[in-house]
Amino acid sequence: MNQFFAIQTIGILGGGQLGRMMALAARAMGFQIIVLDPEENCPCAAVADRHLKAAYEDEAACFELLAACDVITYEFENVPLSSARILESKLPQSSRLLEITQDRILEKEAVRNLGLETADYHIIRTREELDIFTNFFDQNPHKTFLKTARGGYDGKGQFVLSGPEDLGNFIQRHYNPDRAYVAEKAFDFDMELSAIVCRNARGESKVFPIAENIHRNQILSQSIVPARIPESTRKKAEEIALHLAEGLKLQGTLAIELFLKGEEIRVNELAPRPHNSGHFSLDACLTSQFEQHIRAICNLPLGDVSLVSPCVMLNVLGEDMDQLDREKIGKHKLHLYGKKEARHGRKMGHINVLENSLKECFQSLERISIH
Ligand code: ADP
Ligand code: MG
Repeated sequence: MNQFFAIQTIGILGGGQLGRMMALAARAMGFQIIVLDPEENCPCAAVADRHLKAAYEDEAACFELLAACDVITYEFENVPLSSARILESKLPQSSRLLEITQDRILEKEAVRNLGLETADYHIIRTREELDIFTNFFDQNPHKTFLKTARGGYDGKGQFVLSGPEDLGNFIQRHYNPDRAYVAEKAFDFDMELSAIVCRNARGESKVFPIAENIHRNQILSQSIVPARIPESTRKKAEEIALHLAEGLKLQGTLAIELFLKGEEIRVNELAPRPHNSGHFSLDACLTSQFEQHIRAICNLPLGDVSLVSPCVMLNVLGEDMDQLDREKIGKHKLHLYGKKEARHGRKMGHINVLENSLKECFQSLERISIH
């Protein structure tokens, strides 16, 4: 059969905005979409051919998805491993990459095993390890990000410690001996960057233009592309992405969050899927990260990721919704995810501001003024 017709139906685990934008790209390419998500009104349901409304751990629903789809993908990393394993034969991203990226400890070890640097960290899996860290911290107080090993995102599950008193408070109020934690020494970066790489089963890899990211309250606020870094740094970031893609035998998309200080780059976090900091690619690149992800999991030739315009991507959170003004946004690209309830900190959409130069992007951003 012609390769373009061998895959007709793509299953997506998770119906959030990433699933929705994957589905929109896939539909434009002629694929059908089945999304599995427990939420009736999840953002992907409105754009999918079919919505399997079931819990991610629902085995019967997973078997149904497996039977109905030719290829399956996940849009977030907290899918239960047991479900991913049921779907393994049609899951190019693999349950192994999920297992690694679900757990900050395994993730940091995987990064270090591939010869790359992370922030300095202590692992806290037991009371004994907590005591060891407490002693160390008493003698070497330093701003520290204490993170749950599993289940954190957008700064959730993180505690910022300025000194031993904060650690005492954390132990009294939040410490759960059944959970594992990573205590990361704050890295005094000049800039945060991200590199998004897609790779298909035939081993073809492409890295999107490197983005410079600005976080507010540990949630991504803006991505600036191209990142304002020297050519040598850009090359280094691309090499890190390609090295990780090869080393982890990636099939699909890997987003890599990086800290930059001078010429030194440390790997902060990995995500085995398209990423918020790659949303600029929807309007600013010849191929978006969502189209590329679909190409990668279907083992199709990858698209051209050339940047066609400088871009600043601005996230729209729940608290920004009241200020959104389509007239002020004007020619710029507003993407909304179809979420009904605008909760504080919830990602509702984003705006891609495209101009001939970054300077003009920032000027336009001021006029849009949502925060
Ligand atoms: P999340 O899963 O919530 O995105 P991250 O580990 O990426 O978790 O942390 C969110 C943000 O918090 C980072 O983008 C960075 O701005 C800040 N941060 C986290 N860890 C550190 C660190 N070790 N040093 C400095 N800043 C950090
Ligand atoms: Mg992060």
